[in-house]
Amino acid sequence: MDRRSLLKFGALASVGFAVEGCAPKTARPQVSAPRRAPLRLPLVNASWDRVIRTTIGLRPHRPSGFVLKADKLDGKTIIHNFGHGGAGMSLSWGTASMATDLAMAHGDRRAAVLGSGVVGLTSARELQRHGFAVTIYAATVPPDTTSNMSLAGFTPTSGLIQFSSRTPEWDAQFQQAVQIAYRRLQLLIGPKYGVTWIVNYAPTDNEQAGRGTNLLLPESVQGSRTILQPGEHPFPTKYAIERPEMRIEPSIYLDALMSDFLLWGGKVVIRKFETPRDIIGLSESVVVNCTGLGAKALFGDPELVPLKGQLTVLVPQPEITYGTSGGSRVASAEPGVGIHMMPRSDGIILGGTSQRDVWTMEVDEKERTRVVEGHIELFNAMRNLART
Ligand SMILES: Cc1cc2nc3c(=O)[nH]c(=O)nc-3n(C[C@H](O)[C@H](O)[C@H](O)COP(=O)(O)OP(=O)(O)OC[C@H]3O[C@@H](n4cnc5c(N)ncnc54)[C@H](O)[C@@H]3O)c2cc1C
Repeated sequence: MDRRSLLKFGALASVGFAVEGCAPKTARPQVSAPRRAPLRLPLVNASWDRVIRTTIGLRPHRPSGFVLKADKLDGKTIIHNFGHGGAGMSLSWGTASMATDLAMAHGDRRAAVLGSGVVGLTSARELQRHGFAVTIYAATVPPDTTSNMSLAGFTPTSGLIQFSSRTPEWDAQFQQAVQIAYRRLQLLIGPKYGVTWIVNYAPTDNEQAGRGTNLLLPESVQGSRTILQPGEHPFPTKYAIERPEMRIEPSIYLDALMSDFLLWGGKVVIRKFETPRDIIGLSESVVVNCTGLGAKALFGDPELVPLKGQLTVLVPQPEITYGTSGGSRVASAEPGVGIHMMPRSDGIILGGTSQRDVWTMEVDEKERTRVVEGHIELFNAMRNLART
């Protein structure tokens, strides 16, 4: 494919650039001679023989957003904290902190946390920090949670809510949660928790693409974006949007949270709850429900629906320290469907699938081919451009 035809495409992927509504902020810049030295990037060796695994996770999506509220069940206080869609790795410190505020209103300082994904672990840590003795009860623990199957970038609005279902009350909760989470994650930067700042590039031919604001996000969380002009970047599109992005390595992060929890005297009990009646038998009178998609069966939540996500992983390349969103004509052809690449120490992660109400944990070969071929196309095109 020549550069001219490649210039015709380029799309923003849904992750990271989940722009629900775009409002031009500034005047169109003049497209003129390159303003800064051309960016050179090491390239991902994208090929089928470098695939080392494909993983599946079911994001716990609710059209009206996550649930964060206290209920009564017999004599117990049940604090619900579930339904984070494709944003649980990003938002969990925020909703954990707010769930803890609800627990503080209760006299007992012993708490049960149901679930040991990112939402359960962060809730347990927040409760400990506020003086609670905490036991986690969970059917599965890392690495066998959806949270381990995450990409995972700071994508606080991804797959989170149907825009038309928002309420002022939910919006206020979200705003508080995202601001807390954004700050807390920044304090965890470093090898211990596997949280890092990297740069993300979204190749695009649409000059307006990087100018919108995410209408859900407060100003303090919008982050900066630079639109790289022709000649300033190595992508097979006219422009590339450059932005800093927080990356969370799920295995490192979840193991570190679990270690912290145990170090603070936390206990873990492997147990599956079939009905709310099982919960009534617990000795703790404060229970925080962080069962993710499991809350559908356990509490009969009619709204919860999986957004099936599939990641295909290539052999790690430590020299790759940037992520990409989009950049393939074939793989990003349908509106709302994109591809993205996240480099991690456990591999080059290729994603871009979100299948609503699909419960199967089987690999979808068609989607796998779309995502892998899309990245082969992108990085081959970059390689060809570098040679010219
Ligand atoms: C492919 C993919 C990419 C993603 N990318 C991102 C991203 O870039 N950024 C981001 O922020 N998020 C991302 N996510 C979303 C994120 O992974 C989820 O929002 C998050 O994992 C939800 O966490 P959780 O703790 O609620 O659920 P889980 O991790 O599923 O944990 C639920 C816990 O509850 C337990 N449980 C459930 N039912 C019961 C029961 N009946 N009894 C006892 N225990 C029970 C489970 O065993 C488990 O321990 C992605 C997800 C996928 C699949």
